[in-house]
Amino acid sequence: MRIWVNGGLRDADDARLSVLDHGLTVGDGIFETVRTSEGRPFALTRHLDRLTRSARGLGLPDPDHDEVRRAVAAVVDANPVALGRLRITYTGGLSPLGSDRGDHGTSLVVALDGVSRRPDTTAVITVPWTRNERGALAGLKTTSYAENVVALARARERGASEALFPNTADRLCEGTGSNVFVVLGGRIHTPPVASGCLAGITRALAVEWTGAEETDLPMDVLAEADEVFLTSTLRDVQAVHRVDDRELTPEIGPVTAKAMRIFAERAGDDLDP
Ligand code: PLP
Repeated sequence: MRIWVNGGLRDADDARLSVLDHGLTVGDGIFETVRTSEGRPFALTRHLDRLTRSARGLGLPDPDHDEVRRAVAAVVDANPVALGRLRITYTGGLSPLGSDRGDHGTSLVVALDGVSRRPDTTAVITVPWTRNERGALAGLKTTSYAENVVALARARERGASEALFPNTADRLCEGTGSNVFVVLGGRIHTPPVASGCLAGITRALAVEWTGAEETDLPMDVLAEADEVFLTSTLRDVQAVHRVDDRELTPEIGPVTAKAMRIFAERAGDDLDP
């Protein structure tokens, strides 16, 4: 695997970043995960715009989009895969130990690995830990994802592929790496960004294309919803057939099936912006 690290391509085994990089020592960094199909990044402009929004939220200098595009092109070229997960990581760079950011600029790392297509349906669990919709990091795609790692491990233990969080007001928020939609009486709803969820790129497209409504929802809506589905860069639109112990039948409900169809038709591989 060839990785872009601070200005050039390196073999994964030789790629180096300082052990005092602020992204590593305190999680002072941001990232984007972009899907590539046959080397074409999907919705790259939207991802770069969100990278800039996250940088501003963290007080990092704006990332240079031209440089990131060059890095993406080089990495995609060097790692031919049919379906790829491209990861752009941008951090506070080399810093003294402690919480202050140093004056050593930023670090940019771009890597790509091959992935397989996600199944059309999946199981999810709910977790008691909360997303803080009023926190400084709400809605930012930061590298401080350890809580997501813990929640996802819990989901895996229970045979699920995703864990859904409430926010501090016990309202439905999002998954560890996905946004959540519910169908009630034929209408599609998803929590608003004010719930503390990430403004998912797939979520925005699904809202635009299906007319889903942004609705503040209680957690127990998951016990009543006729259908539930997830959206994310790597899942696209994915039906949920089990929430905790509740099985949903059919595995892919009619409204979800339609959303999946619409998404597949409209999200051409090269959608950009
Ligand atoms: N929520 C979180 C916490 C995420 O990390 C992600 C994606 O990585 C999403 C939602 C879905 O966002 P997108 O559709 O842009 O992949």
